[in-house]
Amino acid sequence: MTAFSYDLLSTDGTARRGRLHTAWGVVETPVFMPVGTAATVKGMMPESVKSTGASIILANTYHLMLRPGAERVGRLGGVRKMMGWDGPLLTDSGGFQVMSLGPLRKLDEDGVTFKSHLDGSKHRLTPERSTEIQHLLDATITMAFDECTPFPAEKTVAADSMRLSMRWAKRSRDAFVPREGYGQFGIVQGSVFADLRAESVAALGDIGFEGYAIGGLAVGEGQEAMFEALEFTTPLMQTDKPRYLMGVGKPSDLVGGVARGVDMFDCVLPTRSGRTGQGFTRRGPINIKNARHAEDNRPIDEACSCPACSRFSRAYLHHLFKADEVQGLMLLSWHNIQYYQDLMADMRAAIEAGTFAQFEKNFHAMQSLGDIDPLDP
Ligand SMILES: [Zn+2]
Repeated sequence: MTAFSYDLLSTDGTARRGRLHTAWGVVETPVFMPVGTAATVKGMMPESVKSTGASIILANTYHLMLRPGAERVGRLGGVRKMMGWDGPLLTDSGGFQVMSLGPLRKLDEDGVTFKSHLDGSKHRLTPERSTEIQHLLDATITMAFDECTPFPAEKTVAADSMRLSMRWAKRSRDAFVPREGYGQFGIVQGSVFADLRAESVAALGDIGFEGYAIGGLAVGEGQEAMFEALEFTTPLMQTDKPRYLMGVGKPSDLVGGVARGVDMFDCVLPTRSGRTGQGFTRRGPINIKNARHAEDNRPIDEACSCPACSRFSRAYLHHLFKADEVQGLMLLSWHNIQYYQDLMADMRAAIEAGTFAQFEKNFHAMQSLGDIDPLDP
């Protein structure tokens, strides 16, 4: 049985251009994975997601185990088949969302017991059960079950938490059933402490995974601390395996993450923002609900090829949001996913051309220009 493979094609500084070959298709990296929490990228058809250039999506174990249930998804042929997505799929382990339940959950050496946010029913996740659920969901990439260390954490707390996650990583690996073109990622923990991150990278390397994620970041430490943690973590990681920064992030987080050697990202931001009226553009974010867009005939972003930009004006989108029309959030979600995919494609091209440093400079210069005032000539 051969797991999926990863080729490091080229590097530019510490930025990496790679290719992941999976059972369900090729993933060009650096890559952004749109989030389909409950087996749907909210407001979008799978073919619309694909048309943006997205090659892999993410679904959430926690939500799907509660509703419609892991065994049921398994009987329906897995998440990909159920939702009509023909590309690769990554599932999280459920750990992060269970940890976020606070008083609704109880942690012990063996696993976590928690109450469903839907109906208060009691459930349990262990490394073995999380891995089994992800198998039932038919995840092309399965994540090891871990404890996401809260931030801030005292060093001794962060160390105990990380070591528990490493014991769970071993149990997750033992429970993983290999399939052709599938794989499993271990998750580096250790909060903002360099020596703990190093210990975690080494422990996961000893177990051996097809890829490695960096967890426990983007949890309130701020961009500067996150970049600093990446700077002392990614140089320790294997160069021949993909690196995934979980739950990140804003466009500037993606650019900074790629610059520091990250290959994969996921975040709800483009779709969540799309539903609340925030649109990402090459000149920074805009709020489409703002009155200044009411008679603005320009597209959200002149350089974007998505349907929201090629067929409709800011004025029309503004109207749709004001009138609470569903098409408004559909179009803005589509645009935001397109923007994220274009950003990743531009970064891949820049790394190939050896011009990533220039790309990064231009990106920040453009973002800081801000949106063009509609009254400007
Ligand atoms: Zn667009």
